[in-house]
Amino acid sequence: MKIVNPATEEVIRDIQEDSPDSVNQKFKLLQVAQVDWQKITRAKRIEILRTFSDLLEKNVEALASILTSEVGKPLQQSRNEINGARARIKWLTDNADKYLADEVMIQEGNLTERISYEPLGVVCNISAWNYPYLVGVNVFVPALLAGNAVMYKPSEYSTLTGLEIERLLKQAGVPNDVFHVAVGARSVGELLLELPFNGYFFTGSYKTGKYIYEKVAPKMVPCQLELGGKDPLYVADDVADIKAVAASTADGAFYNNGQSCCAVERIYVNEKVYDQYVDEFIKEVKSWKIGKPTEAGVYIGPLSRKDQLSFLETQVQDAVQKGSKVLVGGKRIDGTGYYFEPTVITNATHQMSMMREESFGPIIGIMKVKSDDEAIELMKDTEYGLTAAVYSNNQSRAENILEQINSGTGYWNCCDRVSAALPWSGRQHSGFGATLSHAGLRAFTKTKAYHLRG
Ligand code: NAD
Repeated sequence: MKIVNPATEEVIRDIQEDSPDSVNQKFKLLQVAQVDWQKITRAKRIEILRTFSDLLEKNVEALASILTSEVGKPLQQSRNEINGARARIKWLTDNADKYLADEVMIQEGNLTERISYEPLGVVCNISAWNYPYLVGVNVFVPALLAGNAVMYKPSEYSTLTGLEIERLLKQAGVPNDVFHVAVGARSVGELLLELPFNGYFFTGSYKTGKYIYEKVAPKMVPCQLELGGKDPLYVADDVADIKAVAASTADGAFYNNGQSCCAVERIYVNEKVYDQYVDEFIKEVKSWKIGKPTEAGVYIGPLSRKDQLSFLETQVQDAVQKGSKVLVGGKRIDGTGYYFEPTVITNATHQMSMMREESFGPIIGIMKVKSDDEAIELMKDTEYGLTAAVYSNNQSRAENILEQINSGTGYWNCCDRVSAALPWSGRQHSGFGATLSHAGLRAFTKTKAYHLRG
């Protein structure tokens, strides 16, 4: 398997993919090692994962540089991601005891009723490339804390980072056979689906997620899916500082080149503030530096995947044919690297693919609306359900709108953010189950109810 730098198009490493035999062998080793891992104290497991976090901090420059070399995100965004992962590990390790310890629910006379949170066993994590540290940490950290062994399949586009994660986990003290990486693309993912894991945790596209869910169903084990989105954002007519709102929402749409599961993908703006908002939004987008991801100050680097360039072009063409206006950008940038101009499109409608299918790139469609009701109808018009955002000066107005949207997350005056203390979950085609929060710690356990009399 060749690892290509999306900024230079150079092959940076040639890596051997796992074979059916090596995957089977790793699985068997995980099964054996999990038994002892479950028996060591939770305190010890917490200590090991805290050491892992310290190692991330110590190696942040080298790790950021590897991440940028294989996914193309600006170096500062790679550093931000690693630091963000450390914040999540902190919350998860600080709260592991609270949510994973046995709970006595009833104590009456000689009767004790207790819940115990047992590990699932050996779990499989098939992961995405856009935030390999963040989406990886969401799964393997709570899984390990709860006493599971983990087979981690990083995306083929973030393999080097996956191998660094493995190296540092082991350096931190995770026993050799409690965590293994399966190296490879789709065919290696398929091999994992054939094995009898005790749980499957997938982050990726709706298409692959649905396929995996169908394949895993007969195994009768937990299967969680964190999938894509077409996340809407509404700017109400009472926003005070339109310039600040435009800057914040543009960042929500374009950070990491729009390659975030919770990137803002559709914007609806009240007609009273529309013209000023679009003006400020365009100014913000034009102020960004496009260039090599290793260059200081660059905000827009290359896309991670070459095939995304033609998909984005198709979305733009479809939108233009159906009457939209391209105010900025609209095409790939000639030369070396997978670059696409940050693109802002107005006069968008829901007949356009750009407003219906996840773009996962630096393009955004903006629509003018007459009222909150019209915005709500449009925000609801989607098969996805990851996040939704409202910018308004009035909290109850915003919350009233958010309550009506079928999404796992609601944002008031913010967007494109994740908190370790809150459940991260999708609805409809954005998936189901939760990572992070108490729900995400317990997702890697099976409850046992003890009725103890004596
Ligand atoms: P993808 O579905 O193409 O691939 C994800 C993983 O699945 C990769 O590791 C890939 O090798 C593997 N895979 C592909 N086909 C497989 C098969 N047939 N069997 C088993 N494994 C298979 O997704 P991607 O391009 O890596 O990631 C982008 C998508 O992920 C976007 O839709 C994005 O929104 C979503 N995402 C969601 C979240 C979230 O938390 N909801 C977070 C990050 C990314």
